[in-house]
Amino acid sequence: MYSKAASLAGSSGFLLVNEYLHIIKMAALMNPKWNGQFSCFDLVAKTDECSRTTVQVRDIEIGGNDFIVMAGPCAVESETQLMQTAEAVAEAGARILRGGAYKPRSSPYAFQGLGVEGLRLLRKAREATGLAIITEVMSEEDVALIAEYADIMQVGTRSMENYALLEALGGCGRPVLLKRGMTATLEELLRSAQVIAMSGNPRIILCERGIRTFETATRNTLDIAAVPVLKTVSRLPVIVDPSHAAGVRSLVPVLSRAAAVVGADGLLVEVHPCPEKAMSDGNQSLTFGEFRDMMDDLQPYLDLQQQFRQFRPQLLSIGGAD
Ligand code: PEP
Ligand code: MN
Repeated sequence: MYSKAASLAGSSGFLLVNEYLHIIKMAALMNPKWNGQFSCFDLVAKTDECSRTTVQVRDIEIGGNDFIVMAGPCAVESETQLMQTAEAVAEAGARILRGGAYKPRSSPYAFQGLGVEGLRLLRKAREATGLAIITEVMSEEDVALIAEYADIMQVGTRSMENYALLEALGGCGRPVLLKRGMTATLEELLRSAQVIAMSGNPRIILCERGIRTFETATRNTLDIAAVPVLKTVSRLPVIVDPSHAAGVRSLVPVLSRAAAVVGADGLLVEVHPCPEKAMSDGNQSLTFGEFRDMMDDLQPYLDLQQQFRQFRPQLLSIGGAD
């Protein structure tokens, strides 16, 4: 079967591959450089012995059967803003509260975050709502401090290749959500995941958040194919951030539905009580009502994915003409 598949590879853009085909060969079909040895990301690759890892965060399992939504403001701005948002997203079905206390900004003059005060507010919101907390860490010097407050350490797109930070996260005792660099290939993303795993931390969640392309209609281009590719070659959970991909709130619900259908394990979504007044990323932040509607509309798409999962053969793209 494999050699037949391989011989078809040159003539056809797509191949149907039976379940029994060894996963490593499937990866090599996806990218010939992934040559069956996974030398660059073997600790996070899918293998016969380990086809999937789930990441436990308090009572939440990421990468298992549930679709886990992480939601909240881009940045923690004030106690009122955070508490109101935490309550609203919890009520709508989110399990994890996001919020940046240390903000990497495109402009050095933009709001840089509340720092430790932001972390304290996140902790308070967790106590009030029971939501777990995800927040970004930008520097290896902040790892120990942020790990005291956060349930998940977020590595932002600008830090995906900060190896000192990735290594420090190896010993932090918390799961890491690793965002794809805005100009990074999937192989580069997996190599960065490998650095965290090599440094001693296998609890890693991958996040597709859009990549930089020539397109200007959206802030970034959501690479929706990244989800099935990563889920085929890697053992790690994969979530989608539609907010930073879209850059505008009107596109966030439809991108979330796409993420559900292609098999993502969850979402990371920006929500703000009053997006026009947000200190960062207001254009892409959902109001409470929009978030609630989006959550209510997701279920049929998740059901579709479940049905599809039972019957589908592995559909692999293997390139072809432009
Ligand atoms: C964020 O999540 O607010 C953020 C800064 O994301 P990214 O690193 O994807 O730009
Ligand atoms: Mn943001």
